[in-house]
Formats: sequence, structure tokens, C-alpha cells
Amino acid sequence: MINKLICFFTLIFFSCTESVPLNSKKDLNYGIVIHGGAGTMNRKDMTPEKEKQYREALEESVTLGYKILKEGGTSQEAVEHSIRVMENSPLFNAGKGAVLTAEKTIELDAAFMNGKDLNAGAVASVKTIKNPITAAIKVMEESPHVLLSARGAEKFAKEKDLEIVDPSYFFTERRVNDLDKIKNIESSANRSTRQADKEFISMQRYGTVGAVALDKHGDLSAGTSTGGMANKKWNRIGDVPIIGAGTYANNSTCAISATGWGEFFIRNVVGHDISALMEYKNYSIEEAARIVIHDKVAKLGGDGGVIGIDREGNVVMEMNTSGMYRAHINSEGELSIEIYKN
Ligand code: ASP
Repeated sequence: MINKLICFFTLIFFSCTESVPLNSKKDLNYGIVIHGGAGTMNRKDMTPEKEKQYREALEESVTLGYKILKEGGTSQEAVEHSIRVMENSPLFNAGKGAVLTAEKTIELDAAFMNGKDLNAGAVASVKTIKNPITAAIKVMEESPHVLLSARGAEKFAKEKDLEIVDPSYFFTERRVNDLDKIKNIESSANRSTRQADKEFISMQRYGTVGAVALDKHGDLSAGTSTGGMANKKWNRIGDVPIIGAGTYANNSTCAISATGWGEFFIRNVVGHDISALMEYKNYSIEEAARIVIHDKVAKLGGDGGVIGIDREGNVVMEMNTSGMYRAHINSEGELSIEIYKN
């Protein structure tokens, strides 16, 4: 009798231990990665106070997205809300705190993509929409288009009752000073080497923001928001609102958000190329991102980075710059925040 009882409980124990972790592991496969821009980052330029501010802002953003995912929300909600935190912070080159154009105005770009149905929306060159990421999502959900620009996009946002602000809301003293510095360097005759050119371009941005997430339902999303490059002219638009370049998501592969010298990310169709390497060549997200950033973008002379998450929750944060503001929380709730490459 005792033997039978032991057998019975042993059986129950093993059937439980076998099924519970497997099921719960599947449910736990969700996560979020965010970035706050890539570029040339010197430790000597970073004061402890400044670093603390960045770390706190990144933590606030990624924690909010993670909470949404943990409570069963969608990756779309997580990405949107994480990005809004960074758009509302003056630290990043997105929303408030964006860089200035050559005409001392601010022109914002943003995009969002759903991996579930490959639906996407984007806005470019907008000057009055407080949270361009939300406008991008509205374009996706409530217009028959993918990309709206300038005054048309602003009219659309107004019609959809999104928050509209005076353009002065976005201005910060730091970016006004940055533009002055850039204009001084531009007018100096000593900027002739390729390296100097690269450093100059690097100075003209910083702090584009993005988020990618996988939710408990198995859906991937990607979003990116930016002020583009400082001193930009002629209504220049970068890679961020170009679906497949700076922003891409596909449930069968991954979700990607990029930051860097936009022209190179457009020419390499970075987000889609990473996804295509995974889809057609079966590469892991790490291999695919490494190839695209180091063998493609860098070889053409561009710099920057990407964050990505695949359908199993594997993440990548790859760059060919000395740093990228970035943070990640996995399904176990483990938080990591990094600034420098190594
Ligand atoms: N990719 C952005 C652009 O070119 C800038 C950046 O990410 O730093 O507009």
C-alpha cells in the first residue's frame, strides 16, 4: 500500500514538474528593449549627474513598457508608452529636446510597425505634434496611408484629437547651443578629412529614441521617434519614418529600431535586411544584426546601431559607434541599462 502511495505521489510530482515549467516558460517569453540614440560617446564628457539622469530616464521608459507587457498588454502599447516617456524628456533627440534644423526650427519624424499584420504608420517633418509616435500609430490605425508629412500630418493629428503644442515647446537651450557650435565648425575651413567629416556628422544627432517588444500573445512591434540630424536642410527626412529602414517588425522574424546616420540606414534598408537574413537564410537575430551593421552600414561609411527582439524573445543591441543609450527587461524581470559599447 505504502509503495503504491509513493508511486502515486511520485507520478503526480513528475507530471507537475514537467508540465508547469514548460507552460509557464512559454508564457514568460516576452520582453522589451529600448534605445535613446547611438553615437560617439566619450566617458570624459559624461558627468556622474548626467549619467544618472540618462539612466533614470531609460529605466522609467523601459519599466513602463515592461509593466504593460507583464500585465498582458500588447507590444504596441508597450512600445508607444515607452517611447512617449523619452519623447517627453528633454534628454533625447525626440519630441521635447529634439535637435534644430539649419533654419532653427524643429522637424520630427516617427514610425511604428506591427509584426502581426505588417501594418505600419509614420509621420515626417512635423512641428506641432507633442508625441509623434502616437501620431504614427494613428496613421496606421485610422488612415488608409502609411506615411504622412508636414502640415498634412499635423492636420490629421488635430482631426484625431492628438495633443498639439506650440513649436516652442520642443526647444531646449542645449540644442540651441549645439546648433551654434555646429554652424561654427561648418564655417571653419579645417574640416577636410573623412574622419573629421564623420565626427562632424556624429555631432549633428544623438538621442533618437526607439523601442521593440514581444508580448505574451507572441506579437512583435517596433517604434522609433527622432528630431533627425541637427542643422538639417531642405526638409531632409531620415531613416526613422521609412518603414524597413529605421523601423521594421514581422512576427515571423523580429522587430527592429535603428539609430544612426539615417542616409546609410535608408540605403541599406537596415530593419528589413535584418529580418530578411533571418527569414531567408535562417540567421539568428545576433548574426543578422552584426552583418548588417558591420558589413553593410559601416562598409559604406555609415555609423549607428540597432536594437531588436525576435519571436522567441532573444534580443540584440548592436552598434559600430562607441556607445548607444539602451535598456532591456526580459521576461524574468531582469533589467539592464548600458551606455558605452564595452
Ligand atoms: N537616424 C536618425 C536620422 O538620421 C538620427 C539618429 O538616429 O541619430 O534622422
